[in-house]
Amino acid sequence: MNDVHIRIEGVNKLFGANARGVVALKDIHLAIPRGQFTCLLGPSGCGKSTLLNAVAGFAPPSSGTIAVDGRRVTGPGPERGMVFQEYALFPWMTVEQNIRFGLEIKRMPGAEIARRVDDLLHLLSLADFRQRYPKDLSGGMRQRVAIARVLALDSPILLMDEPFGALDALTRRNLQDELLRLWAALKKTILFVTHSIEEAIYLADRIVVMTYRPGMVKRDVTVELPRPRDPSTPEFNALKRELGLMVMEEQQRHQNDELRMAAID
Ligand code: ADP
Ligand code: MG
Repeated sequence: MNDVHIRIEGVNKLFGANARGVVALKDIHLAIPRGQFTCLLGPSGCGKSTLLNAVAGFAPPSSGTIAVDGRRVTGPGPERGMVFQEYALFPWMTVEQNIRFGLEIKRMPGAEIARRVDDLLHLLSLADFRQRYPKDLSGGMRQRVAIARVLALDSPILLMDEPFGALDALTRRNLQDELLRLWAALKKTILFVTHSIEEAIYLADRIVVMTYRPGMVKRDVTVELPRPRDPSTPEFNALKRELGLMVMEEQQRHQNDELRMAAID
């Protein structure tokens, strides 16, 4: 059962030249088992997106290695799908065309495309919206389309960078529930970035708390609470307080850093 899907070993990432450079990631080691729902948690600036982009293969680490199924990542690949906070949809395409697009690129047979797109439209409650354009959809609906588009490609790994960060609380909870349902049904490995403590506890099997500059692993917490999780329980709140203190420490470091920068200017 100890089947490592994503292995991150000794990853460092530097931006810029040495003296004025930023150490965005320092000595990150993580072994992520197949099927695990992992959240990267930390305040803004602690390297969450940098780490996710490295796993996606968009921006390689300065040193260290990332491997998927034992194969080293050197660029983006079909086994890793990414969902961003900004709904990266094509505005000139309908919902259906947005979902079809990746499959057409792959030259999948037409009948197979039609079947998959239909399945996804239903799976994400988008069937009534198939002919709409992104501009005519709410934020939550757009993000459903973005998820459907990634699911269409059937990647075993989903990388998600604050995908629900721009949504109101109710829509956000709906999409969290939806994502948990899809994750359980489709058995994906999910690496999900958030700065919301509650979101991390609601979703994750495991929460990796990161430090602010350099981005390191501060704590690696297994969440044992049974699902569906109830944010009003004492257990949920105890964990929320514990993680809250850790995140606050890092936020403080962020603020001190900004004050120092302001003083230099
Ligand atoms: P997070 O996603 O946790 O908010 P990021 O990964 O975006 O953090 O950034 C981590 C650190 O690296 C920040 O200090 C940020 O300013 C810096 N950084 C990120 N991308 C770049 C870049 N392209 N060039 C220079 N610095 C960057
Ligand atoms: Mg980020």
